[in-house]
Amino acid sequence: MLLKRKFLSIALALGAIALSGCSSTGHDHAHAWGYEGNIGAAHWGDLKPEYATCKLGSKQSPIDLTGAKVSKLSPIKFSYKSSQLKIIDNGHTIQTNFVPGSTITVNGKKYNLLQMHFHQPSEETVNGKAYPMNAHLVHKSADGKLAVVGVFMKEGKENSFLKAIWKNIPQQKDKEVAVSKVKINLAKFLPKNKHYYAYTGSLTTPPCSEDVTWMVMKTPVEVSKMQIAAFGKYYSHNARPVQPLNDRVLKVSK
Ligand SMILES: [Zn+2]
Repeated sequence: MLLKRKFLSIALALGAIALSGCSSTGHDHAHAWGYEGNIGAAHWGDLKPEYATCKLGSKQSPIDLTGAKVSKLSPIKFSYKSSQLKIIDNGHTIQTNFVPGSTITVNGKKYNLLQMHFHQPSEETVNGKAYPMNAHLVHKSADGKLAVVGVFMKEGKENSFLKAIWKNIPQQKDKEVAVSKVKINLAKFLPKNKHYYAYTGSLTTPPCSEDVTWMVMKTPVEVSKMQIAAFGKYYSHNARPVQPLNDRVLKVSK
C-alpha cells in the first residue's frame, strides 16, 4: 500500500512537470489543434471559444493569390541584422526567434521582426497552385499590429541560409534552443526581386486573429529537394487550406 502510494505521488509529480513544461511555451495547451482529423483546420473554430474567429472571420488567411489588382505599392524597407540562432519545434512548425533590432518599414510604419517559421506545402497558393514550402516572417509594430512577409520556396539549388537552421532543429519539442555559435541574417533569405502581393488577413493558425497586414513576395527562393524532404520529416503537412477573399482587394506591385 505504501509502495503504491509512493508510485502515485511520483506519477503526480511527473504529471505536474509535464504540465508546467507545456504552459511554459506560452500555449495553454500546445497541441490542442492540428492539421488532421477532429483537431484539423475545419474544426479549429469549434475547439475553443477563443478560436471562434477561425470559423466566423471574414478576412481569413491564407488565400489563393489570383486576380490581383496591379497597383503602386510602396516598397518594403528591410533592415535585418545578424541574430543568434534561437530555434524551437513548437509542435506545429519549426520556428526561429529573433533578437530585437531587425525591422521592416512599409508605408511609414515600422515593424519589428519577431520570428520566422515554415509550412509544407505553401499556405498561400498562386492561381490555385501551391509551392512545396513557404516561410512566414512575422513582425509586430510598437502599437501591436502584425505584418507577415511570405516567401515561397520552390525546388532548386540548396539554400545556404537554411542549412544552419535545418542542422539545428531541436530534438525536443516546445523548448527553444539558443545555438551559441550560429548567427543568421534573414536578409540573405529574401528574393532579389522584392515585388509583392498585399492584402489584409489573419493569423493562419488559431486563434486566427484578423487585422494582419500580409505581404507575399512574388518571387520564390530556391531550396533543394533534400531540404524539402528534411523538413518533411518533421512536418509534411502543416498548411491551412486557402480561405475566401470575400470583399477584400488583393493588390500586387507594378
Ligand atoms: Zn505561417
